[in-house]
Amino acid sequence: MKSQEKITGEKKQSEAAYQGFEQGPIRPPSEAGSLLIRISRNCPWNRCTFCPVYKGRDFSLRPVAHVLEDIDRVHRYALAVRECAAGNGRIYPADIERLRSIDGQTDQAALNAALHWATAGMRSIFLQDANSLIIKPERLLVILRHLQACFPWIERITSYGRSHTIARISDDNLRQMAEAGLSRIHIGMESGSDKVLARVCKGVDKQTHITAGLKVKQAGMELSEYIMPGLGGRELSEEHARESADALNRINPDFIRLRSLAIPNHVELYEEFRRGDFEKLSDKETAQELVVFLEDLDGITSTLKSDHILNLFEDVEGVYPRDKDKMVGIVRHFLDMAPLEQMVYQVGRRMGLFRGIADMADDQKRQQVETACLRAGIRPENVDAAIDEMIKRFI
Ligand code: SF4
Repeated sequence: MKSQEKITGEKKQSEAAYQGFEQGPIRPPSEAGSLLIRISRNCPWNRCTFCPVYKGRDFSLRPVAHVLEDIDRVHRYALAVRECAAGNGRIYPADIERLRSIDGQTDQAALNAALHWATAGMRSIFLQDANSLIIKPERLLVILRHLQACFPWIERITSYGRSHTIARISDDNLRQMAEAGLSRIHIGMESGSDKVLARVCKGVDKQTHITAGLKVKQAGMELSEYIMPGLGGRELSEEHARESADALNRINPDFIRLRSLAIPNHVELYEEFRRGDFEKLSDKETAQELVVFLEDLDGITSTLKSDHILNLFEDVEGVYPRDKDKMVGIVRHFLDMAPLEQMVYQVGRRMGLFRGIADMADDQKRQQVETACLRAGIRPENVDAAIDEMIKRFI
């Protein structure tokens, strides 16, 4: 299926040959089941000192014609996959062989994407990479309308967007995007503190975050804001918590998502940390910061999610204001525990055995954690260093 809309002003980009269906490296955890459609490559900003994802890679827009071709390819496979699964919902190896030959030339990446999407019910689409809203609005509209034409059953189309970019898009254009099916924007706010934002080179200030967030909501799209506990380090921890909560209180986003700071060895922030210019918080200090943040969130109706493996508490989730006390209570419970118990929880969480403190009651899991601590020589005095090493496996 080809869009009838005319695509103009991209002669130079169109000269590059189409190389087949593409996918970028990341998507939000909540988009694990989404079909990933790559409309630009890498990050146009790429300077945040904590971010390892696109370092050393140049940003580029993909020609709209190439994106439409990706959509057409995955569309053909998706329809065929649905047909195969129509009986008992299963896809057998023989089906996959047959699916390979539905296109003259098999595009394995597009077929894999369709198969993966089918396992999650083919309900949502995520536009990659780091800031899809940077492309010209009329081009984004062509892509969105083509997606709607191909997959009329989908429930949502979502994308990452930088506040700096969104704040410059007209309200009319944002409304048109929402009408064309773009239903949720994920923004990496990271912090509401101007000091923290400047220090990590986020390229945006608190007021721009607020403006962008309000514009997204006004356009009728859902808004998901990411906050990074620990990003202010020891020096700016309280300011980071209070200013982030204040910015979010002014926006009242649909979702607030936590993604705790981790520092891989190859980002600028690691150099600051190594020189002693950035004091990283321990898990206990991050929990103390989290209490301030959760308590300061006020007057909002947002859903708070902790859906990232780097977070110490996966069960700190709920809807404001109803679940505020419950969420604060979970973190306070950890802070009130004896150092040995805190260590068992920290290690068990990073081993993937505990999702929340209640899981410590499972004797078998607890035994596994205690054995691992004994073998690795982990004690309350050195647990944070051990945790740093464990976390590097996830980043
Ligand atoms: S804007 Fe996002 S993707 Fe780009 S460098 Fe910053 S955190 Fe990374």
